[in-house]
Amino acid sequence: MDLIISGGTVITMGSAGIICDGAIVIENDTIIDVGKNEEIKQKYPRYEKIDAEGKIVMPGLINTHQHAAMSLLRGYADDYPLKEWLEEWVWPFERHMTGYDIYVGALLTAVESIMGGTTTVNTMYHYMDDYNEAMAFAEVGLRGVIGHVCFSWRREQDKKALENLAKRWHGKADGTIRVSVDPHAPYTVDPEYMRELRALTFSLNEKYASNNEPIIWHTHLAETEDEPQKIREAFNVSIANGVIEYVDSLGVLDQNVVAAHCVHLTNRDIEILGLRNVKIAHNPISNLKLASGVSPVPELLKSGATVALGTDSPCSNNSADMFEVMKFTALLHKGVNRNPTLLPAETVLRMATIEGAKALSWDREIGSIEVNKKADIIIIDLQKPHLQPLYNEMSHLVYAAKPSDVETVIVNGRIIMENRKLKTVKVEEVMRKAEKAKEKLLERLHESK
Ligand SMILES: [Zn+2]
Repeated sequence: MDLIISGGTVITMGSAGIICDGAIVIENDTIIDVGKNEEIKQKYPRYEKIDAEGKIVMPGLINTHQHAAMSLLRGYADDYPLKEWLEEWVWPFERHMTGYDIYVGALLTAVESIMGGTTTVNTMYHYMDDYNEAMAFAEVGLRGVIGHVCFSWRREQDKKALENLAKRWHGKADGTIRVSVDPHAPYTVDPEYMRELRALTFSLNEKYASNNEPIIWHTHLAETEDEPQKIREAFNVSIANGVIEYVDSLGVLDQNVVAAHCVHLTNRDIEILGLRNVKIAHNPISNLKLASGVSPVPELLKSGATVALGTDSPCSNNSADMFEVMKFTALLHKGVNRNPTLLPAETVLRMATIEGAKALSWDREIGSIEVNKKADIIIIDLQKPHLQPLYNEMSHLVYAAKPSDVETVIVNGRIIMENRKLKTVKVEEVMRKAEKAKEKLLERLHESK
């Protein structure tokens, strides 16, 4: 479809900066022109138009750490320490989840994400052939990196799943779905298996990916203070100077690794993250809820690292709200460092857009509004009491805006939501499916006890 978004303040997050009374021209899935509304209107008189006057037009938000299927566990177990939360609540519940449950949970998260202005989600969960997160994202029209999470105790099963995931989904759904290899964490994946997964990632890339669309890694690193202890106990290895240094010694870190959390880091760890150009997914709400600690984000930014943002799962957050994540990010680091100049609004907005795209090695196509990039664009309504008066758009986006202010969402040139109405799936139906899946899951869980 040929489309013009006309009027409004275009926050490009690219070299054009902010364009007042701007316009964007989209042909099929691609942005072909960006500029002043007056000039664009004359150049493309016959294109279908979305009027964005008085609104903010910006790139869709990028959530770099999710476990989309876990929306079915939203609110199931709160207020426990990570170990107890995982071992006594989450994992026993998840044992009863079928492929269909995973698909339904991911549908719910995909719908919630779109309705909150998120156009790309990096998700780590179990891949199954019959039903899976990739199907759900493609159905809703959400862009995503779909992973399969790997554990030492199920190598053969993992390798089969990764092969099928890559073969069936990498670069599929008009290029909106990519895949990743997801070693769960260094305390659940032994050193030898880490190396094996690294080699497997190379061969999957050779078979199914071109250089421009790599199959990346998505993992959890340095989330809790006792992680070195947990790794030592699990695999009898020595960790002298931090978790990152240990993982690097296995030869598995590079620019195509997304490391979620990076909370407990040594100085050497920070150095290595920079040296290897590892991408960091910062999840302030999850880290606060599980009381994991506070990631040294100002130091990481100072070291030149790419730091992007994530919600983490719907049961450690408990929403997919990237506006909330932006606000927490800005406030948390000011608060703990007693320095209100840290993480200004523009920096945080970059983390939620272009830095997110870089984190997923997808910045050639998404993360900013620029000619030849894919059209992943959101329009935000400013006619709300909490967004008036207006001095600075970026300030409003980080400190005042809410998911419900997002009016229209375009992914890959396709209008997925218009005036808050989803065009691809019926929201009521998705919610009904999720409620039913939850009830059946609880039945199976109780029967097994
Ligand atoms: Zn996580």
